[in-house]
Amino acid sequence: MHHDRKVTARYPRAMDPASTRLACPHCLTVNRVPDGRLGEDPACGRCGKALFTGLPIALTRGNAAALLLKSELPVVIDAWAGWCAPCRGFAPVFAAACQRLEPQFRFLKLDTEAEPQLAAEFRIQSLPTLIAWQGGRDGGHEVARTSGALPLPRFMQWLAESYGLA
Ligand SMILES: [Zn+2]
Repeated sequence: MHHDRKVTARYPRAMDPASTRLACPHCLTVNRVPDGRLGEDPACGRCGKALFTGLPIALTRGNAAALLLKSELPVVIDAWAGWCAPCRGFAPVFAAACQRLEPQFRFLKLDTEAEPQLAAEFRIQSLPTLIAWQGGRDGGHEVARTSGALPLPRFMQWLAESYGLA
């Protein structure tokens, strides 16, 4: 026991490079990825699939905890419905932003008809609603939200401003 403690003390945290915890969108295993490798198409240590696919991921009650509460990445949520014409118009903008901004951000789609409980928890009152979320060890928190479709440049500007990157 004493020996174990000494070993731990001898190897300080510098041995552990800066890294980000994020959940695999396929199997929901939380991976720890060194920050320098986030942009190198990291794969899940358990299922071997890509941690970033270049496509928005459907947010569900089944994956919400892993993707929102156990991941340290900024997450952008597009709350939409199939009957909402502005939502359909915004979908290609959201997908384009996903292609440009992963792995800096994770992009999630919340189908408010398929996931009414999640929609209620996020207090979605108009569509589309865009939510900037910051995951973290404390469980994460909402950073900003806006309602209504935005053109791509305005959407990317809103994201940068929301996270203090502008
Ligand atoms: Zn996986």
